[in-house]
Amino acid sequence: MQTIILLGAPGAGKGTLAEGVRQATGFIHVSTGDMLRAAIKEERSTGLEARAFMEAGELVPDDLILRIVRERLAQGQPSDCYMFDGFPRTIEQARGLDATLAELQAQVNQVFLLEVPTEVIVSRLSGRRICKSCGAVYHVTNIPSKVEGVCDQCGGTLYQRPDDSEETVLNRLEVYQRQTASLIEFYESKGVLVRVNAGTTPQAATAELLSKLASA
Ligand code: ADP
Ligand code: ZN
Repeated sequence: MQTIILLGAPGAGKGTLAEGVRQATGFIHVSTGDMLRAAIKEERSTGLEARAFMEAGELVPDDLILRIVRERLAQGQPSDCYMFDGFPRTIEQARGLDATLAELQAQVNQVFLLEVPTEVIVSRLSGRRICKSCGAVYHVTNIPSKVEGVCDQCGGTLYQRPDDSEETVLNRLEVYQRQTASLIEFYESKGVLVRVNAGTTPQAATAELLSKLASA
């Protein structure tokens, strides 16, 4: 089993990059944000627990997150390769992940830190649009769909995530600085941190990440 992590502020482009990496490598994309949104949509109990935190742009409690990640890993095969997106987000989650992987004779192999200037992040998040049906990610100016409001891939309707409103975006960035940025040092000290310039185009960032993945 191989495990990589995409680390970066909200809007760094983790979801978009993950899709490119998945297509090129077959890594299984595990997004805790997507899992929580699915749980809310399907009215499962984890969704009910998570909803208020998400709408406020706050982190969902660590034990809930670790539970859904462990459940997901338990469904896989020993040969699977995982790419985590939006997880871990706290030192507590990172320690929980290490413990879970150790039980599976695995470890975190590489952590890709997606570096993006703050101004770019705010504009990306406020212009982000997502397909209701398949989850594909667009941007009103940077990655427009061919027909406005309609998904190129499945014809689904595009919407703005409730937590992409400007006020919540600012809170999410603050939460990232306060709770998640310490993971940079955590993984740097383990020697697995790899920096990627994610401030240009998704194509360039994906290519840089793939070249650094291949050279590991
Ligand atoms: P983004 O990276 O753009 O903020 P995500 O989809 O990763 O988007 O996360 C959306 C929200 O879901 C977060 O603001 C948080 O409330 C919740 N969430 C997702 N992953 C985690 C996590 N690992 N720990 C705690 N909360 C999480
Ligand atoms: Zn779609």
